Amino acid sequence: MKVLLANPRGFCAGVDRAIEIVERALSKHGAPVYVRNEVVHNKFVVNDLKAKGAIFVKEIEEVPEHQVVVFSAHGVSQQTRKQAKAINSTIYDATCPLVTKVHKEVVRKQKQHSQVILIGHKGHPEVEGTLGQSNDHEQVILVETAQDVEQLVINGSVSYTTQTTLSVDDTQDIVDKLKEKFPNIQAPKKDDICYATQNRQDAVKTLMKSADLLLVLGSRNSSNSNRLREIAEKLDMPAYLIDGADEINPNWLVEVETIGVTAGASAPEILVQEVINYLYDHGATEVLEVSGIQENVHFSVPETLR
Ligand code: SF4
Repeated sequence: MKVLLANPRGFCAGVDRAIEIVERALSKHGAPVYVRNEVVHNKFVVNDLKAKGAIFVKEIEEVPEHQVVVFSAHGVSQQTRKQAKAINSTIYDATCPLVTKVHKEVVRKQKQHSQVILIGHKGHPEVEGTLGQSNDHEQVILVETAQDVEQLVINGSVSYTTQTTLSVDDTQDIVDKLKEKFPNIQAPKKDDICYATQNRQDAVKTLMKSADLLLVLGSRNSSNSNRLREIAEKLDMPAYLIDGADEINPNWLVEVETIGVTAGASAPEILVQEVINYLYDHGATEVLEVSGIQENVHFSVPETLR
């Protein structure tokens, strides 16, 4: 059995930065540091930071006054920012700069009195944060599918933006529908699907030309990891999203000649290495890195933590 490793895979620059912010906040202030939402959607990362003294909360109401608060990589609404300030927190913002760019785009378009449409998944923290950039007079409209676009009735200027971690292909269908329905719709200056999402999806498409099965390291609530699994499924290939090697069912490997392995943007490389060891123990004879795009993106942490 041969194992092919997707390239690139695993941590993106936004995840690297978010984890570093929590770790630096812990060494500067000591435990506990309160983190609103899972800083990134990965069980291993969250448990590791918990062990170091981070406390993860869903809402700011759960944080006592005068504590250190970190906002997750997915970003937060203006309301959450106000709440954190109101309890006199020391705030560190781990929102990925690519998500912040989308937030700024929403504010800019609303100032121009354009009705903003957000393409994204309802309930995802990034989407909640982006919807929460709306001004008091006009809500951002969320669409999840091309069918949702059919229902829209909007007069006047319209623009759209997207969640950063969507399927590139599915999003294109929705964008095409929007352009058909609103020919003058304003697109974002630059595509909002982030470089890491795009690159990891492209790498899986390359990988699946040679693999019979795909294992994706990533947690169930990780948007970009789910999209990687879906790419293989759309090609009628079996694909499994796993948090670690202990979730592999040996029956999946029966009669498989080539296994593809990748990791979502929030899954650490150590988990990939554990999967490789597992596969060596279960019949793998060679492991090959598939060549792919070289990523050189780095986001620095806030100045107060440098
Ligand atoms: Fe930022 Fe993209 Fe990583 Fe999300 S997946 S944290 S948007 S770089």
